[in-house]
Amino acid sequence: MEKHTHVVIVYPHPDDESFGAAGTIRKFRSQGVPVTYLCGTLGEMGRNMGTPPFANRETLPQIRKKELEEACAFLDIDYRLLGFRDKTIEFEPLETVAKRVKKELEDIEPSLVITHYPGHGVHPDHNALAAGTIEAVRMMPKEKRPTIWAAAITRDFEKVLGEPDVVIELGEHFDYKLEAILKHRSQAEGLLKQLENSDKSESEFIKGLKTRLGKERFFIWQFED
Ligand SMILES: [Zn+2]
Repeated sequence: MEKHTHVVIVYPHPDDESFGAAGTIRKFRSQGVPVTYLCGTLGEMGRNMGTPPFANRETLPQIRKKELEEACAFLDIDYRLLGFRDKTIEFEPLETVAKRVKKELEDIEPSLVITHYPGHGVHPDHNALAAGTIEAVRMMPKEKRPTIWAAAITRDFEKVLGEPDVVIELGEHFDYKLEAILKHRSQAEGLLKQLENSDKSESEFIKGLKTRLGKERFFIWQFED
């Protein structure tokens, strides 16, 4: 892996960093490379208020912000909020999103930017923020552009895009990722329930999770101009 000086992750929701990049973060932090998470929204439109409810529309953003803070402390990374509204990034002009991200990138000057692969991010916020992030980098002078790793997370992405360029495996460190995910209690409740109610033995359930989340895969973005 080429040597990086600062890694910036641009995803829209508190928990995307843990589900999508905890292993990658671990790898860079263990090499002493600083990592900053640019979190697009506070996930404030999330429908999961818990059973029994632990949140309402007013308290959910604060709860998710606190969870984000705890996850980032655990992952040993900084975070900045981009201040978009949850579930609305796709309605923002591409240029607005790009300029917002570019401002942060110019300030941090990362050597590597990680975002979703537009069209392969599953959630409209993922696709829209990724498109804006790639546009932000494209707007920079060529010699100043950081490398982009784009995460495709659709089920059939390999059929469409081929083999990813970068594969980071959690391996024996899978528990680390699980711990990061569980910092987002409001989002991980379903996962915990599944763990408790699973007919399979716990180890088998964890095995299933490992298949889904044990590898973080990225494509190196190629600009045409
Ligand atoms: Zn998300």
